Amino acid sequence: MRKTDERGPAVPLEPTGDELEKLLAGAIEYVTSVLARMPSTPASDLDGVPDFLADEALHRLPAADGRALDEVLAVVDHAATKGLNTASPGYFAFIPGSGIVAAAIADLIADVLNRYTAFAFPAPGLVALENSVLRWMVDLFGLPPTAGGLLTTGASMAAFSAVVTARSTRLPDDFRAGTMYVTDQAHLATAKAARLAGFPADAVRMVAVDADLRMDLAALRAAIAADRAAGRIPFCVVASAGTIHTGTVDPLHAIADVAAEEGLWLHVDAAYGGFFQLTERGAARLAGIERADSLMLDAHKGLFLPFGTGALLVRDAALLRQSHTAQEAVYLQDLGSGGLPDFANDGPELTRDFRGLRMWLPLHLHGVDAFRAALDDKLDLAEYVYEELRAEPGLVVRPAPELSTVAFTCREDQSGGATAELLRRVNAEQRAFLSSSRIDGRYVARICVLNHRTDRARVTEVIDAVRRHVAIVERGG
Ligand SMILES: *Cc1c(COP(=O)(O)O)cnc(C)c1O
Repeated sequence: MRKTDERGPAVPLEPTGDELEKLLAGAIEYVTSVLARMPSTPASDLDGVPDFLADEALHRLPAADGRALDEVLAVVDHAATKGLNTASPGYFAFIPGSGIVAAAIADLIADVLNRYTAFAFPAPGLVALENSVLRWMVDLFGLPPTAGGLLTTGASMAAFSAVVTARSTRLPDDFRAGTMYVTDQAHLATAKAARLAGFPADAVRMVAVDADLRMDLAALRAAIAADRAAGRIPFCVVASAGTIHTGTVDPLHAIADVAAEEGLWLHVDAAYGGFFQLTERGAARLAGIERADSLMLDAHKGLFLPFGTGALLVRDAALLRQSHTAQEAVYLQDLGSGGLPDFANDGPELTRDFRGLRMWLPLHLHGVDAFRAALDDKLDLAEYVYEELRAEPGLVVRPAPELSTVAFTCREDQSGGATAELLRRVNAEQRAFLSSSRIDGRYVARICVLNHRTDRARVTEVIDAVRRHVAIVERGG
């Protein structure tokens, strides 16, 4: 171990020797305690938030003098108590994202290395690692060798770059007549991306869904025809590979056929469902995804990575690059860094974190099969929730889950009030946190299983809680 004095005079802000060891040991101790407490930490704690926020420690400005690490971590620990515990095994709301420890370790290392990965030449080896993760995803989804992509902070940024690429590839410079097609089950990220990309609000068409909540192909064709007749330019259709409401997968092959006939860019929102492609069942349900012109993924959902890790894959990587480089011809000739991409030319960011390590390290450390098994387990657990809730006479359960989301309502529930009350009661126990949605205007509760920490015991607990409370709600409280 190197002693402080061996390094000569101390450099400000650079802890060394014992000081560094103490900092790292303190961080390890804290992280270990967070993980040890995780199963018993409430899945949500929304009581008394105004009082909690009145605590001066949460708003204190940094002082001239520093404080000890344990003092600072005590503030962080306290600050993390209220709200929703998205990392908890009892978190079943929206689309869970849990955060595996291997990725946190990768972040620590990436941040200490702190190399510049916006271009290949300052960090060719590290950019190669990040690129290998992109190649892995290109293979996973059966995209051709021309495909490439970008790791983003999440699906929303991926949607932005996808819409920009579709826009500059398929539309004239004045693109305002361009029209894209989504369903009302689609996540708002793509419509928001269209707004950010400069489209007027009426550029996004809502296509009806069928009784199974999948995009209605006849409605899509009719909308395209009507738009063409009105002088608009249909240019992009967005298919969902797992909706946020029910995990429903649109008919990808059929939508790809329409896109091909009509000359539309096919963007697939696989933010939630995409990584189920690793499993046999998932790959069967996502058949046709390989026909996407672009697809977006959230590794901070389906690969259990910490928030801030999404991806965009584009069938023809050159189109992504052309759409994101200010001086395309000049930059393209520099593609010489051993065939590696310059990520700054593939997206809006210049300086960026080395987010590739957050994906590379866990995949290499645990191996792909560990992720496959975890995702298979989530499909099994959702199947278990479905079978158990279906057997409960007080509930109406939507059709079998395609992915890992089960939606249900109370049988006696005209206004949606009973289901909302059921949800409120289950959540109040703080062992599970569920969220709701609306289907055909009707309130539905939903359980989404997508946390690597969620095991059969916790799922059994939530099923039991739903059963207990549905009986109480039925009796009228
Ligand atoms: C989460 C999600 C998004 C948005 O992704 P962010 O990572 O939050 O930007 C888009 N579509 C679907 C289906 C999602 O589940």
